[in-house]
This record gives sequence, C-alpha cells and structure tokens, in this order.
Amino acid sequence: MVVVFLSLIVVIWVASFFKIFFRATSISRATILDDGKKNVMFVIAHPDDESMFFSPTINYFTSTACNLHILCFSTGNADGMGSIRDQELHRACAVLKVPLQQLKILDHPNLQDGFGQLWSHDLLTEIIEEEVTNHYIHTIITFDNYGVSGHCNHRDVHRGVLKFLQTNSGRNVKAWELVSLNIFRKYCGPVDIWLSILSAKRHPSKVIIINKQPWKSFKAMAQHLSQWVWFRKLFVLFSSYTYVNTLDRINPESNELL
Ligand SMILES: [Zn+2]
Repeated sequence: MVVVFLSLIVVIWVASFFKIFFRATSISRATILDDGKKNVMFVIAHPDDESMFFSPTINYFTSTACNLHILCFSTGNADGMGSIRDQELHRACAVLKVPLQQLKILDHPNLQDGFGQLWSHDLLTEIIEEEVTNHYIHTIITFDNYGVSGHCNHRDVHRGVLKFLQTNSGRNVKAWELVSLNIFRKYCGPVDIWLSILSAKRHPSKVIIINKQPWKSFKAMAQHLSQWVWFRKLFVLFSSYTYVNTLDRINPESNELL
C-alpha cells in the first residue's frame, strides 16, 4: 500500500514537471499589465522574499521585457546580518535579471526586521508614494493580508500598499497580491500547479503564473547564503511558491479604510 502511494506521488511529480517544462502556459483570465505600461514594482519586506515567494512572477515579467523594480523595506537585520543580506539580495537580483539600479533596500530605524516590530502604515505609504512617482510605476505586486507565512512585516507591507491605493485613487496604479495558500497546498511542490489551475477556473479574476524556470529560483535563493540552510533548501524544493504564483487584484474599495 505504501509503495503504491509513493509511486503515485512520484508519477504526479513527474507529470507536474512535464507540464512545467513542456506545456507551461500561464493562465491569465485577467490582465496584469495594461498595454504599453511596463513599469512594475515588487514591494517586499526582507531580502529573500523575492526568491522564496515571488520568483514565478518575476521570471514571467522579465520574459515579457517589463521594467522591474524591487522595493525592499528592510535589510533583514533581525540577526545582525543586515549588511550581508543586503549584498545577497543584490546577487539574487543579478540572477533574476532585475537591474541593480532598480533595487532599493531601506534601512530605516522604524522599519526593522523582526516579529513584534510594527511598521507604520503611514510611513510605508509615504515611501511607496515616492517610489511610484519617481519611477512612473503603474503596477505593484506585493503580499496579501496574510503574507504567505503570517509574518507581521509581510502583513504590514500589504497594508502599506492598500493604504497607498486608498489615498491615491486618482493615480490609476493597479496592485496585485500574492495569494497565501493553506499548508497542504503550500508544501505540495509542483503538484500545486494543477490545484492552482482548478482554483482559477472557479475564480476567474485570479491570475496563475507558472514558473517556466524553477532552477533559476533555486539559483536566486542560493545567493542568500546566510539563509541557505538545509531546511530552506527543502522549503524551496517543496514550496509551491517556487513553481506557481496566484495573484489577485487588490481592490481598495472593498477593503475597510486603514
Ligand atoms: Zn520575509
């Protein structure tokens, strides 16, 4: 019985990789980009968020010749390794083909990495507003209200973006959130592409992006050497965020005012 079960898992994994490498088409019922508008900004909390969670979307945008920016709100200094992690994010961006001059990493005294560090939504909004203006950003990609792992910094970043949208409705900036998955889907690796496709059929407003280059995500994450310990290697292998992202449009009007 165990052998049959394990064989079934292997067959499903192989079929999933086949889908990724040979038949991957991202299911986009809604359009992320308006025609001619290609300045996209990822808003994240820590170095490694981009590689661990958003790499399918980053790879998709780089393959469509978008002009990518990353705004990272902290150096990830919770363990005193902020300056090292800053450099690691630069190396990961080189792998992901995000221009280094379009990467901004903040080291603000009121926006430090860590559980229990509450980040002011007003301050986040102010910084996002400045970056959007300076770089003519029209599309923002960020965490959803749960923030994949429930980390308070991820959740604050989402609220900062939401508040920016609520206070800048005249700017016509669109924002998309990375949908947090339940624990089963989070760790079922490439198999989640089938579940994501099924889920998109039920929720046509969501966009599914399949990562055609998962090895690039591994390579990008491996640049974060200070974080590249055995359990994170396993995480990247088994995490569905390495293989597929589900994005949902953030609607500022359907959220309560912050
Ligand atoms: Zn993080």
